[in-house]
Amino acid sequence: MYEKDVFCKIIAGEIPCYKLYEDDEVLAFLDISQVTKGHALVVSKKHFDNFLTTPQEIMHKVMDVAQRIGQVQIKILGARGVNILTNCYPASGQTVVHFHVHVIPRYNENEGFEITMKNNSEGLNLPALAGEIKENL
Ligand code: AMP
Repeated sequence: MYEKDVFCKIIAGEIPCYKLYEDDEVLAFLDISQVTKGHALVVSKKHFDNFLTTPQEIMHKVMDVAQRIGQVQIKILGARGVNILTNCYPASGQTVVHFHVHVIPRYNENEGFEITMKNNSEGLNLPALAGEIKENL
């Protein structure tokens, strides 16, 4: 039997959330674990596993709400920046398998959230790599 994930349970009203926005296709609420003050999640009401497997039209609607929440975090909460993040598959750090976008307001640089992007380009054939991706888009 299909086991509902935690976001499906929130959407069904089976567990509570601090709701920020709702329409027929999209729900936004505060993340239970606030990386920074106002950290929000925007989810598709219909279950899709992640951003990569969500139909374009729904993905656009989720991203539209994420943009609006990010704008409010800057204007109203006084954030100086916002990270918009969506993890796809466990290898990327996705823990809840239900398409969601994190909207994380940033007040300063050292507040418990960081993404480190090392430069691992050495040995890579960038023209071949670019060609491989480009040909398959
Ligand atoms: P990810 O690791 O990208 O899959 O993010 C999942 C997020 O869901 C985490 O930041 C959790 O804190 C958040 N989360 C899990 N359960 C709940 C819940 N019941 N209400 C709100 N946020 C939740």
